[in-house]
Amino acid sequence: MEKLLKFDNEYLWHPYAALHKGPSRFLAKAAHGTTIETADGLKLIDAVSSWWCMAHGHNAPEIVEAIQKQSEKMCHVMFGGFTHEPAIELGEKLVNFLPNGLNKIFFADSGSIAVECAAKMAVQYQYALGRPERCKLVALKGGYHGDTAGAMALSDPDGMHTLFRGIMPHHYFAERPNCRADGVWDDSDFTSMEQIVEQHKNEIAAVICEPVFQGGNGMWLYNAHYLKKLRELCNRYGILLILDEIASGFFRTGPKFAMMHTANDAKSCGENDYIKPDIMCIGKALTGGSITMAACVASEKVAETITNSKISAFMHGPTYMANPLACAAGIASLSLFESRDYATSVARIEKRLRANLEPLRSLENAADVRVLGAIGVLELKAKPTAEDIQKVIRETGVWLRPFCNYVYTMPPLITTDAELDRICEAIKLIGECKPAPVIEGDDEFHE
Ligand SMILES: *Cc1c(COP(=O)(O)O)cnc(C)c1O
Repeated sequence: MEKLLKFDNEYLWHPYAALHKGPSRFLAKAAHGTTIETADGLKLIDAVSSWWCMAHGHNAPEIVEAIQKQSEKMCHVMFGGFTHEPAIELGEKLVNFLPNGLNKIFFADSGSIAVECAAKMAVQYQYALGRPERCKLVALKGGYHGDTAGAMALSDPDGMHTLFRGIMPHHYFAERPNCRADGVWDDSDFTSMEQIVEQHKNEIAAVICEPVFQGGNGMWLYNAHYLKKLRELCNRYGILLILDEIASGFFRTGPKFAMMHTANDAKSCGENDYIKPDIMCIGKALTGGSITMAACVASEKVAETITNSKISAFMHGPTYMANPLACAAGIASLSLFESRDYATSVARIEKRLRANLEPLRSLENAADVRVLGAIGVLELKAKPTAEDIQKVIRETGVWLRPFCNYVYTMPPLITTDAELDRICEAIKLIGECKPAPVIEGDDEFHE
C-alpha cells in the first residue's frame, strides 16, 4: 500500500490538487452500495455520490452485468458511419424519460463536452436562421458548467478559472439569482438578466444556466420563478434557453428534473405545467456513476432548423461518441430510474437532511443551511483545516468533500435514514472544527 501511494504521489495528478500532496489520499479498493472500502480497511459512506453521479449506489449489479454482457460483444465502434443497438436502445429510453419535445440526442463523453455541444448548437441554430452575429451566450454568476475552455467561459467569471481568461471566449454574465428556492419571489431578482439581454440581444445566441441548483461554484439553491421569467425573456427575443441538468437531473432536487420546480406542484406535474429549455444537458447520474457519458439534447425546433440549413450537419464528433459500454450502462441505469420510486426516496432523504441540518444553524461557525431534495449544505463562515476534515472522515467513516466554505452531502438515492444520520453527524463535526488560519493567496478550491 505504501508503495502504491508513493507512486501516486510522485506521478499522478489529481483533480484540483498539487502533484506532491503527501500521504493524505485514500486508496480505494472496492465500492458497493453506499460504501467505499479503502486498502487500510476503512469503510466510508460515500456522502457525495463520488461527485454526484453514483445515484443508485456503487456497483449496482444490474449495471455491472450490462457492461459485462456488452463487453463480450463489442467494447467500441466509431459512431461515424455506424450505429448500434445499445445507442438506439438508450436513445429510446431517453426519449421516454426526458421531457416531451426534448428528444434529439447528441451523446457526449462528459458533462463539459455536452455543454460545449449545447453552446455550439445554439450558435449553429442562429447561424442557420441567418444571424451569424449571434454568437455570445449569457450565463449566471455563481454557475458551473465544466472545465474545458468553452465550459469554463460559461462558469462563474470570478470563480476558480480566472487564471485561464486568456484562452476563454467572452460571454455575458447576469447576477446570481438571490431569491432562495424556499423563499418568496421578488421581481427585482430578474433585473440584471433582463438588462443584459435587452442591451445585447442581437449578439446573443442563448442563455445557459443550472436550473434551481447552482452546484460546483457555490452550492446555491434559487427560486424556480427565475426560470419562468427567463423562458419568457428568451422567447421575446428569439434567444435559446439551455438548461444544464448535469448535476440537478435524475431526481437529485426532488422531481425528475429541476426544471419541474417551475410547475405549481413539481411532484405530480403534467408535461405542460413546467417550463422547458430548447437544449438541455444531462450527465453524471446518466450511467448511474459507472462510466463516463453525457448528452446534449435539443428540441425539434433547434434540431430541424440546423438540419434544414445549408450546413445541415451539427459540427461536432468525439472519438468515443455513444460508446457501447457506456450506452449499456446508461440503459441499465435508466431502467433503475424507471422501476424504482426515487421521488419517494428523495422526499424521505430531504426530510431527514432538513431535520438533521437545520439545527446546525446555531453553530458558531455556521453561515447558512440549505436543503433541497437529496442535497444538504452547511455553509460555514470559515473553512476548517484539511487535517481536521480528514480526522472527521476517519473517525466517522463518512466520506465528505467540502470545498471553499461548503460542507455538503449529495448521497446516493438509496442511502438509508441511519446512514443519513451518520452523514449529518459528520457534517456537524466539521462545522464544529476550529477555522483554519487564513493564508494570504491560498486559493485552493477543492483540496
Ligand atoms: C459536473 C458538471 C459539469 C461537467 O461535467 P463533467 O462530466 O465533469 O465534465 C457541467 N455542468 C454541471 C452543472 C456540473 O455539475
